[in-house]
Amino acid sequence: MPQRDDSPRLLTPPRLVALALAAAALAAGALIHQAAFRFFQEEARAELRDRAALYRLTLVAAIERHQHLPGLLADDPMVIAALYGVQRDALNTRLAGIADSSGVEAVYVMDTSGLTIAASNFDREPSFLGENYAFRPYFRNAMLGRPADFFGIGATTTRPGYFLADPVRNRDDAVIGVTVAKLDLSPLAAAWRETGERVFVANADGVIVLASDPSLAWRTLRPIQPVRRAEIEAERQFIGQPLDPLDWRMDGPGLAELGGAPALHVGLPLGRRGWTLHLLGERGQASERAWTVVIAVAVVAALMAALGFYLKSERTRRALVESQTQRRELEALNRELTQTRTELDRKSRLATLGRLAASVTHELGQPLSAMRNYLAAAEMSAEASGGNGPFGSQLTGQIGRILDRMEGITRQLRFFVKPKGEPHAPVDLVPVVRDVLALLDHDLRDGEVTLRLDLPDGPVTVPGNRLQLEQVLINLVRNAIDAMEDEPRREIAVSLAASGGAAVLTVADTGHGLRGQSVETLQEPFHTTRASGDGMGLGLAISGDIVHDHGGRLDAADAPGGGAVFTVTLPLEASP
Ligand code: ADP
Repeated sequence: MPQRDDSPRLLTPPRLVALALAAAALAAGALIHQAAFRFFQEEARAELRDRAALYRLTLVAAIERHQHLPGLLADDPMVIAALYGVQRDALNTRLAGIADSSGVEAVYVMDTSGLTIAASNFDREPSFLGENYAFRPYFRNAMLGRPADFFGIGATTTRPGYFLADPVRNRDDAVIGVTVAKLDLSPLAAAWRETGERVFVANADGVIVLASDPSLAWRTLRPIQPVRRAEIEAERQFIGQPLDPLDWRMDGPGLAELGGAPALHVGLPLGRRGWTLHLLGERGQASERAWTVVIAVAVVAALMAALGFYLKSERTRRALVESQTQRRELEALNRELTQTRTELDRKSRLATLGRLAASVTHELGQPLSAMRNYLAAAEMSAEASGGNGPFGSQLTGQIGRILDRMEGITRQLRFFVKPKGEPHAPVDLVPVVRDVLALLDHDLRDGEVTLRLDLPDGPVTVPGNRLQLEQVLINLVRNAIDAMEDEPRREIAVSLAASGGAAVLTVADTGHGLRGQSVETLQEPFHTTRASGDGMGLGLAISGDIVHDHGGRLDAADAPGGGAVFTVTLPLEASP
């Protein structure tokens, strides 16, 4: 037996589609987040770079502002004189004035042994005067005949400073001393701290020499090798500082970790002494912004999907409406076409009939009138012979009736020969109905028919040909009488009314009814259900033709209580 699985299926196709869509949306979200994150991080980094450049500029400007001060001093005759032992006191005062006006911490002059022979802070505690700084690299380098600079913690003041030095030469171009300016960079660090940013400067050894956060000063970004450490100690660059490594890590390009906290990072070389300026930025902001973008994109996508769905359903709805309209239009067109074709068929049949009728009436006309003459002659001779001649009055009577009928047929046929389009004039149908019924009074009596008449009080006027309209009603009433021949109850109800811009004339009888024949069939020329010789099948054809010519309609239906109802609808005469 085949196994039947009645457990509900979890992964139905619609669910699979939904799952796939959800997965795709998640993947898209992740991709967008990644791209947006990269973008914002790059943007934040670019911004960080700009700010770092600004910090670098302030630092470089703070140093270079005083770059030429030692050189100017070195050319000063007073400095040279002092180095030769002349007017040292006067130079001290002069240096104090220069330090004051230029805004440097101190300016001083050293002799070739490294001894400070004049200093701007000669009268302060502690003073550089009398101190020997031969251990400082700036002194050694200047003594080699070139400008030098150095950064270190003051050996005397324990205040950090940037030292700019220049050799002093005599007329023989021999170096006879060194002029030095010590710059205090702490106001700059204080200004950086004010900005609230994490900015610091590390020297070539990785020692932080300047920082917005004071706790970072004298820490190192990387361990210092013992040989180098010994050198630094000899130069007394960072007196009393252990130079402990910082919890610092560079995480690939643009990223760093300080104290375990990840941060955006920009490091700019200062172009001086191998210094690098480091600026740290928020790393989380880019991620936050990226999430904002993902959410915004999701919202926009949802809105667009909703809009798309709405537009599509709107389009579908419109297309549906359109197709329905088109279908209705097509159906209407089709009906019109069928109608036109039926009409054309009818017209062509009537045209054929017209030609036939013309030839028949022409061919029969002559013999029929001849026969009429012979008959008259025979009747006269019969009268003369007292009814005993070869033509008895019985015979002439029979022949007369046959002639009547034949003439009746040709009369009917002549209708189709007659050119149509006789002028239409306003015709009040009320007197038309009265006259026709008066005309047929004899036939109605003969057929023992009860007539019921329902006429309006006022006139019902249509544009038309009165004789033709009479002909229609005559045909309908005659047919009704014929249809009731074998019926026990014989009633004809004729009614006329104006309703909805049309004149409506009905002829109802209690006869055998339409017996399933359509009104179109009944209007076919020569269609008849009556015994041969009794009917030609032209009455309704003629009536239909006349009604059509009047822009109207001839309808027929079985009456609810038995019998048939024929309805003629004609457009009313437009009121003047
Ligand atoms: P005819 O009367 O010569 O047969 P018509 O064109 O007047 O020709 O009528 C065609 C056919 O329509 C009739 O033979 C008859 O079958 C049907 N018909 C006409 N009028 C009625 C009616 N009032 N009730 C039932 N059938 C009718």
